[in-house]
Amino acid sequence: MFKQKLIILALSAFPIFCLTTQAQTTPKKIKTIIVDAGHGGHDGGAHGGYEGGLNSSEKNVTLAISKKLVTELQKEFPEVKIIPTRTTDIYQSPREKADIANENNGDLFICIHADAAALKTGSRVIGYKTVTVYDTKVEWVKKGNKKVKKVIKTPRKVEKPILQYYKLPTQRSGTSVWLFGAHKTDDKFKAIMENEDFNLQTSSDTTDKEDLVKTTNREMKILADIYVKRYQEKSIRLASFVNEEVEKTGRAALGINQRQVGIWVLQATKMPAILVETGFITNYDDERYLNSEKGQQEIAEAITNAVKRYKEQMEAPKPVAPVKDTMGVNKAQ
Ligand SMILES: [Zn+2]
Repeated sequence: MFKQKLIILALSAFPIFCLTTQAQTTPKKIKTIIVDAGHGGHDGGAHGGYEGGLNSSEKNVTLAISKKLVTELQKEFPEVKIIPTRTTDIYQSPREKADIANENNGDLFICIHADAAALKTGSRVIGYKTVTVYDTKVEWVKKGNKKVKKVIKTPRKVEKPILQYYKLPTQRSGTSVWLFGAHKTDDKFKAIMENEDFNLQTSSDTTDKEDLVKTTNREMKILADIYVKRYQEKSIRLASFVNEEVEKTGRAALGINQRQVGIWVLQATKMPAILVETGFITNYDDERYLNSEKGQQEIAEAITNAVKRYKEQMEAPKPVAPVKDTMGVNKAQ
């Protein structure tokens, strides 16, 4: 018991210490950024199916914005590898998307999506038609000694309105940034644990192999936990920059959000990850903005500016002030 504790201490204290000092003196350079265009192929995502809408599909909007984002990031950071998950209209499962990010050893994962809200149904009168209705009257008539009920129906013509139903655009508009749930870190944890770089070198002079395996697992869990927290903190940092840069464009910046039910693809990547809901495809103005060259370019530039600020902070030789886990993060669902 005592012996095992000693091994745990010996194995775990060193790399944690290394991680902490490494973070302060030699910051890790951002070498690879993954840009994921949400949805694709048979998965069209949301669409602007309201009256007066463009009927555009989220998958096309996300692809167009992602392409512009890749171009902008490449221009801004020629030394960084910018990898899109898709460049055409193909379907990829969330697992495939996460694999692309993990296999390429991404340092950042940015998912592009478009929001939607439930459409209300409206109706309007588009004409009238004449229909026959019947007024009924009950009379009691004598039949022998009994009174018998008699229903008398009188036809009457009336004008009835012809209604047309349609979907109303939503009032909600603006950009929001999403993170994986801080408490829903299991998949993030797994993604980190599955990473080959994470296999620790351990000395082989211990005769008790079982002890070593147990200790190594525990050691890895401690480290993975540190990474999960660090990625969460970095994700919040980038998300707040994106929110600020969107605000600068004059559009509604809806803040940083965290779903109680995690966004799986963000959890399954072993790197800081954010999801940008660029705008509401169900909103009249937002849909037009998301489909316009100007709007797509503006979003791509806002995100690039945010990445630039993030990269500068992360690569600065000085340690940066930690961001509190829950600061400014809205909880939803
Ligand atoms: Zn989406």
